[in-house]
Amino acid sequence: MSDSWIVLLGAPGCGKGTQSEFLASDYGFSVISVGDVLRGGKGTYVEERGRTVGELLDSGELLPDAVILNLVRSELNKLGPKEIGKVLFDGFPRTVGQAEGLSSLAKEFGRDIDLVLNFSVGDDIVVRRILGRYKCAGCGKVFNDFFLHPVVSGVCDGCGGVEFERRTDDNEVALKRRLFEYHEKTGPLARYYSNAGVLVDVDASLSLDDVRDAARNILNKKERE
Ligand code: AMP
Repeated sequence: MSDSWIVLLGAPGCGKGTQSEFLASDYGFSVISVGDVLRGGKGTYVEERGRTVGELLDSGELLPDAVILNLVRSELNKLGPKEIGKVLFDGFPRTVGQAEGLSSLAKEFGRDIDLVLNFSVGDDIVVRRILGRYKCAGCGKVFNDFFLHPVVSGVCDGCGGVEFERRTDDNEVALKRRLFEYHEKTGPLARYYSNAGVLVDVDASLSLDDVRDAARNILNKKERE
């Protein structure tokens, strides 16, 4: 896959994080996952709102656009001259303001948004994926209370670990807010990028492998165009 900037769009629990890891390893992209960066700095104070990053994350609210755009700029600045050509944005942009900011950043770096993968999945599926998910504290392997149990109950298949953890925002109250934010603020981005001619829908209700194949087909087709 030649140089391109790709955005992964979709509701919480649609599988963007997992697919971004697949695409990174399949095609050599650098991934900027805004949620992961934020989780690494939970104690940071967000001035505009008088709350910490951790408090905002746990509530399920979006952080202010200006904070997010600064964060993304600083992540882009960390990439080397080769890496900057192939970037996947996971969980960003999430508002029209952020999309406009990203387009300015792309210009600054001499790039375009080449492709937006829109992972579509119903809220009913997302709720089961998110409220059921937990991971091994040792190796990070992900399980789910509803449909992906370890072979031996309480023991990680990946590393034999017995400690598991859940994201602090994977609970009913925060998820309700995260879905509200998604439908209100991120939903309009599908039209925004469709108007720009770069949006492609992916059925994210399928299995991880089927979604991976669908995403690969889209990238390969894009490459041939
Ligand atoms: P994620 O890991 O993508 O599910 O994001 C977890 C949380 O981080 C979200 O619920 C928001 O509180 C915050 N967050 C992540 N990305 C953004 C963004 N682009 N804009 C605003 N807040 C974000």
